[in-house]
Amino acid sequence: MRKVIISACLLGEFCRYDGKTKTVDKILQKYQDYEIIPFCPEAPLFGTPRDRISVLHVTGENRVIVDKTKQDVTKLLEDEINSFCDKNLHVDEIVLKSKSPSCGNQTTPILDEHMNQISLGDGIATSIFKKRYKNIIIKDENSLF
Ligand code: SF4
Repeated sequence: MRKVIISACLLGEFCRYDGKTKTVDKILQKYQDYEIIPFCPEAPLFGTPRDRISVLHVTGENRVIVDKTKQDVTKLLEDEINSFCDKNLHVDEIVLKSKSPSCGNQTTPILDEHMNQISLGDGIATSIFKKRYKNIIIKDENSLF
């Protein structure tokens, strides 16, 4: 059976930072014949609801920072995401949630140290997935249909 990784919040899980979900029924219908692998790196690490995080471009690289506390959680997320990839080496498709600091694909706001948006880029999971799943074109809930 073909396998697809899908952001868990698109599947109806209440795993967003605000405790909400972003269900897209069309995605479930599209992949009804696939083995669906739900993915959410933030909820297991930080719980739900949780403080908002953002991608900041500081000292020449993107870091993931908790808005309120300014804690740098980049390494925590990298380890969580790489561990997920290690357990799911072979998949056929990937659909991630747009605009998220973890899951966005060229739709994630990239901020400067003053929290001003300077560009749009990849969330931390998407940038790792692009290296780990080189042959797969990552889609989001908008580009999929
Ligand atoms: S966008 Fe990604 S990290 Fe955020 S709640 Fe959805 S699956 Fe989790």
